[in-house]
Amino acid sequence: MKWRGRKRSSNVQDRRGSGGGMFGRSAGVGGSGIRIPTGPGGGGLGIGAIVIILIVGAVLGINPLSLLDGSLGTGTGDRGSVSRPLPEAGEDDLADFVAVVVQDTEDLWTEVFIENGMTYVPATVVLFSGSDQSACGLADARTGPFYCPADQSVYIDLTFYDTLRQQFGAPGDFAQAYVIAHEVGHHVQNLTGVLPEYAQAIQSMSEEEANAYSVRIELQADCYAGVWANYIGEENLLEDGDVAEAINAAEQIGDDAIQERTQGVVIPKTFTHGTSAQRSEWFDRGYQSGDAGACDTFSGPI
Ligand SMILES: [Zn+2]
Repeated sequence: MKWRGRKRSSNVQDRRGSGGGMFGRSAGVGGSGIRIPTGPGGGGLGIGAIVIILIVGAVLGINPLSLLDGSLGTGTGDRGSVSRPLPEAGEDDLADFVAVVVQDTEDLWTEVFIENGMTYVPATVVLFSGSDQSACGLADARTGPFYCPADQSVYIDLTFYDTLRQQFGAPGDFAQAYVIAHEVGHHVQNLTGVLPEYAQAIQSMSEEEANAYSVRIELQADCYAGVWANYIGEENLLEDGDVAEAINAAEQIGDDAIQERTQGVVIPKTFTHGTSAQRSEWFDRGYQSGDAGACDTFSGPI
């Protein structure tokens, strides 16, 4: 993907490093993205408010939506720790790349929302190292990138890209871009009402039914990532092999592929993200059509 020297989003917060980066830890927690009212005069969010949000989140079923299942088991995480190791060499380049991709998603979705008489409010994208606090709970390297509806933020530890390349066999900058576009896809779902509806509906569902619903949510996010890839193509920013990298990534992180790799047995009723075939197909559907309207994963067979 052609990205060097291009416009970067201003909605990326770099919280890597022990100092908390440009944005302090306390400022980062909550921020202005919280949609749950904190009561009159509630300026900042104290620990109490955060606890309440977590409880409300649990009651409403506001779960973080990840790219994967959160069971990477890479052992590279730093669960429970608040330490902030310095960024690895080369990560700044990666941070620039992420910010350009985020800008591209904002340009696309702003356009699509206008076409539909709506207003796109960008997500915040938080880069962290080690672990970080989200309104959905602790973010750490092991969970993989995720979107937290409660603070409308995408959380990503850039070392995940090493995992994607080395353990999932999904190299390439466009595989990395797909990860971001998928998470932003969840933000789009939050704005269109798909996620709130999902959070409500799963309250009265069995685990198996909720899993099946989750698969449809995730496949739509993959389809939206495909729509974004189409947009990049329209802008003449694609390079040879880009789309193949994203499709390979979608295949490598299918539930069946992950279960096969990690537990040697595949249990379809536990799928939450879709099979390799489903994920790559829905990405491709978005890519081929370039139309978010083609991403209805809810009304028919998937
Ligand atoms: Zn997801």
